[in-house]
Amino acid sequence: MRFDEKTVLISGAASGFGRLAAMRFAGEGAKLSLCDRDGDGLAALTQELGGAEVLTQVVDVSSAVDQEAHVAATLDRFGALDIAVNNAGIFTEMKRLPDTTLDEYEEMMAVNGRGVFLALKYQLPVMAAAGGGSIVNTASVAGITGAGYCAAYAASKHAVVGLTKAAADEYARFGVRVNALCPAFARTAMLYGFTDKMGAQKGEGREDTLDRISGRIPMGRVGEADEVVNVMLMLADPGNSFMTGQAIAVDGGLTAI
Ligand code: NAD
Repeated sequence: MRFDEKTVLISGAASGFGRLAAMRFAGEGAKLSLCDRDGDGLAALTQELGGAEVLTQVVDVSSAVDQEAHVAATLDRFGALDIAVNNAGIFTEMKRLPDTTLDEYEEMMAVNGRGVFLALKYQLPVMAAAGGGSIVNTASVAGITGAGYCAAYAASKHAVVGLTKAAADEYARFGVRVNALCPAFARTAMLYGFTDKMGAQKGEGREDTLDRISGRIPMGRVGEADEVVNVMLMLADPGNSFMTGQAIAVDGGLTAI
């Protein structure tokens, strides 16, 4: 029970890593403050969480008003914010940089980049005032490598890594640790959205596309959501007390080559 009585805020909790993380944190004793722009998904998750102590709020992470209100609601309900997992994100489609429209670029930066900036802006002072805390920002291997044909996504995830390192430097003295999680190709709705679009263009099925992607990964397969969430919890764990400002790849060896 690493998270017994800890209040954990998770964004993007209605699906994928965020949803699984909510179940896993609850299983280890946490109180949950969950947000997503998908209210139905949050409601379904709350049902599944059964007896766990849960606050849910519909939030667009690109909105300062929404994010400030969510942190305030967390404090109102639980009186504390010990851990935050800033995980909500979008990926649209692979295309060359010149074919990416300005609107597409701005949307990616607004959700993935500004979303994490705003989360940190409202979470850091609360944690510092309470004597410490831990923040995990979900970036991507696209936040540490070039990631051609994903320029807007890569720019937004590099922003997440930069924000993580700056916040870690500023807030280490206040007992707040800030790390970035950098997954690649793990089985969630986001990966399937990406592979299904790619497969449709090539006239192949989902698993065939995943096999093709797997050929580029040293472990020869894509990841399971659980394998990524294991590391998310490890980063958040108060026992992981001397790690801050790191961008940790969970990628089957992709960034090792
Ligand atoms: P997912 O699509 O299953 O979940 C993303 C969640 O974020 C959804 O519930 C969605 O409603 C929510 N969301 C999107 N925009 C939002 C907004 N503006 N405000 C609030 N909520 C919003 O995808 P996932 O794979 O679980 O993605 C989680 C994070 O992991 C994302 O930041 C993503 O970029 C990152 N990531 C995923 C992979 C992968 O292979 N699955 C790889 C690298 C990085």
